[in-house]
Amino acid sequence: MSEARSVLVTGANRGIGRAIAERFLAAGDKVATIYRSGDLPEGVLGVTADVRDTQAVDAAFSEVEAAHGPVEVVIANAGVTRDQLLMRMSDDDFETVIDTNLAGAFKVARRASKAMIRARRGRLIFISSVVGLYGGPGQVNYSASKSGLVGMARSITRELGGRGITANVVAPGFIDTAMTQALPDKQQEAYLAAIPAGRFGGVDDVAGAVEFLASPAAAYISGAVIPVDGGLGMGH
Ligand code: NDP
Repeated sequence: MSEARSVLVTGANRGIGRAIAERFLAAGDKVATIYRSGDLPEGVLGVTADVRDTQAVDAAFSEVEAAHGPVEVVIANAGVTRDQLLMRMSDDDFETVIDTNLAGAFKVARRASKAMIRARRGRLIFISSVVGLYGGPGQVNYSASKSGLVGMARSITRELGGRGITANVVAPGFIDTAMTQALPDKQQEAYLAAIPAGRFGGVDDVAGAVEFLASPAAAYISGAVIPVDGGLGMGH
């Protein structure tokens, strides 16, 4: 087995981020998280920070580097929704989602890139959404933030691909977490009817794709968007 890697997941206190952290822990990696609240899986090094806060993100990375060494694998997972119809969406609804999902991922990737460039290796994995490319009514803010991650990963690939760094996007469909449980029943039923797999995804479905993108087997994959959606977004 390869040496333990220094892995950082944002938002590992619950949902998809927690499952990703547990997956890397089980593989024997050194796992850290930037998180805001809640509890963490045993063995995960937690540093409290809001991904919207540049200074806090930078300080959190320094703390993780001191404990685990330079971060080799980053999973930008922290995300929020503030669903609302376009004409009723407030500036705050729009900006909060962009600041967290898109600018937060940027701040994390920028800070991580320094050590990755020096080491001439690194894996950046952005958790987007099927909604980023498919669109979603009431999700103008969320969809814009998630499709933005595709442009970000592809630009990073062009900028840093020659330095042994890959940047990829995982686009989950409907995954059973607090985020989706908050949707009205009618909307959940409509999604289920549209999913060829005939079921909602589980957090482990997403963690498996992330694990693969961080593995040696994925060394030549960069700028890709990997759907984990049971076929919901096919062709988008
Ligand atoms: P949850 O709502 O269960 O978890 C979101 C996580 O992000 C929490 O850990 C939360 O922390 C953290 N977070 C939110 N804002 C910030 C912030 N400003 N700084 C630090 N951490 C923050 O969602 P999921 O696990 O379902 O989603 C994880 C990712 O997957 C998100 O990016 C989401 O958009 C994406 N996704 C989810 C899908 C699904 O069906 N569930 C489908 C497609 C994509 P806290 O607990 O403190 O709020």
